This record gives sequence, C-alpha cells and structure tokens, in this order.
Amino acid sequence: MKDAIVQVGDPILRQKAKPVPKVQFGTPRIRAILARMKKALANEEFGVAIAAPQIGESLRIFVVAGRALLPENAPEDAPVPPEMVCINPELLRVSRKKREMSEGCLSVRGKYGTVLRHEKASIRCYDENGKEFTHHGSGLVAHIFQHETDHLDGILYIDKALKLEDEKSREKLREEFPA
Ligand code: ZN
Repeated sequence: MKDAIVQVGDPILRQKAKPVPKVQFGTPRIRAILARMKKALANEEFGVAIAAPQIGESLRIFVVAGRALLPENAPEDAPVPPEMVCINPELLRVSRKKREMSEGCLSVRGKYGTVLRHEKASIRCYDENGKEFTHHGSGLVAHIFQHETDHLDGILYIDKALKLEDEKSREKLREEFPA
C-alpha cells in the first residue's frame, strides 16, 4: 500500500515551501489541507508533528500533536491539549544552549538519529483563523519547532544527524519522536 506520508526521495521534501497568503487564511482550501494534516498525524501512533510538504503541499504550515505539548512533568491523567496549528512560522529566538535528542521523521521510515538542536526555541505564527501567536518551547517542543521549520526549508533531520540508526525495539521507540 502507498504510504500516506511523502517519503524521502520525493523532490517536494527538498523544496522551500511557500507562505500561505493572508487572504487564504480560513478558506476551504487551507481548512482541507489542515484537516488532511491532522488526520495523517492522528494515524501515526508515535507521530508528534507533521509539516505540509509531508502530505504533498509545499506550504509553510505545520501541526504539532496535543500530547507533545504537555509539560514533561504533567500527570498521567492530564487532559491532552488540542493540536497546535502553525502557519507561516518564524523562529524568533533560540537558546545558545543546545541539547542532543533522538529524532525520527514520518518521511524517513525505519530510521532514528541523534540531532543537536537549541534547547529552547520561540516561534511566532498564525493559527487556522489567521490570529498571530507566539509560543516558547523547550525540550521536545523546541526540537519539534526546529525539525518542522527545517521541513519548510527543504531540510531533513538526516542532513544534520550526528548518528543515524535503524529502527530499534518498540519499547525504545516511545522515548523518541517521529515528526
Ligand atoms: Zn520530519
């Protein structure tokens, strides 16, 4: 069966995605793209985020799964926040301090790699209704912001990984994030 997510080798993953024009915010076309992105992400048990080029749309949009937005010390039964929709994102500030984390990518099946990224990253973007917002991410969320904005510039984590490995046991997978 054909993969629902565009896989490495497809040129769309290497293109610089185009910003969504302001007049298109909230239009049926953009809403349909967001719905497809949310559905594709929801279908991935371990997926934490997805960028529009991964569903074949070269637009500057990414969606972060709600559970990835929970604070690291959140209790088990904490309510899961809704997905974060980021349109035309801009990385505002990043920490000087960096941290290594294991990453995967829904567009590079079966691989994981260690990537060194800024430990904190603030992002400014528009939500699905065209409202501007800023989010300060640290840890996993900061890594996701950098992984996803890279996607929009045609960069994949495999270009940056210090170490690349084949998929390991399911157990280990839970600590890692494909995005
Ligand atoms: Zn990815």
